Amino acid sequence: MNLSKLMSLFLLMLISTLKLSAQNFLAIKRYKVNFSIATKANEQLIAMRSFTNNNTKYLLLIDPKTLDTKVDLADNYSLKSVDYFNVLALFKNTAYVRALDAAAAKDLQLQNAGIDHSIPNEKGITLTIDLCPSHKPLDRIIFQSVLDEFKKIEKPAPLAISVSGKWMIKHQEDLNWLKSFADKKELNITWVNHSYNHEVNSLPLAENFLLAPGTNLDIEVLENEKLMLKNGLIPSAFFRFPGLVSDKAIVQKIEAYGLIPIGSDAWLAKGQQPNAGSIVLIHGNGNEETGVKDFIQLLKTKQNDVTDKQWLLFDLRQGLEKEF
Ligand SMILES: [Zn+2]
Repeated sequence: MNLSKLMSLFLLMLISTLKLSAQNFLAIKRYKVNFSIATKANEQLIAMRSFTNNNTKYLLLIDPKTLDTKVDLADNYSLKSVDYFNVLALFKNTAYVRALDAAAAKDLQLQNAGIDHSIPNEKGITLTIDLCPSHKPLDRIIFQSVLDEFKKIEKPAPLAISVSGKWMIKHQEDLNWLKSFADKKELNITWVNHSYNHEVNSLPLAENFLLAPGTNLDIEVLENEKLMLKNGLIPSAFFRFPGLVSDKAIVQKIEAYGLIPIGSDAWLAKGQQPNAGSIVLIHGNGNEETGVKDFIQLLKTKQNDVTDKQWLLFDLRQGLEKEF
């Protein structure tokens, strides 16, 4: 093979790799919860979902040690089909299953079940921003402030965004704006499933949000993941309950999708103060002015600590990997 042929082959390979890493899956079919152990060379991952897109089969995979997820071609792996309980048993000593166990152990309360704190000995927080359905534009100031404060300290700055389906549908421009920072490697975004409809009613919490009668979890979980994939977002292995409202039964059902519920011990708009290792919650959907203001204020008070690297942002995945 001559040099120019070799170069064009290399370019083609490069283009196909790039395409796969930032692919918008526009024609997803047969999207299913489908657990299997996926092995490739030295890599052992857990496949959580399988689907086809334009007649090609893909998997949504999680690394049980690092909690990283990715989408890859099913043909790249040798697969052994298992069920959720096999996963728990086979990977019981990994951060992934330990985090699932820890979240399930905290499922008794009606609000804020799941993991609400990580790495208590480290200086800093994990920032989570919820995007519930809203008519108002994204609070871009949150992200702009993070970028300004951390640009010389942490690049990309890690944060987690919980997206609802109805927010994604209405706010394509804002979503693309967020993705552009991930593409430029200025933000490292963990995309968290926040349900498709995110319904809220006027009933007590025990019958509200996902606990409302008639809730279809397959739609709330899987349709939202499909919409994330369609928009080029890789779903993480995390789930944030709408309103942070859940009960024991629904926590178990969400975990059976392979998802780890993430709570918060510092919902700023509720006056909860963050401490070392807090999972901080603010809403970025235009509906929580106080939370956004409190967060900007928090960044201001920590400015010197940030510069001295005494107050950092932690990646949700890495935080839990260390914790568990
Ligand atoms: Zn929400």
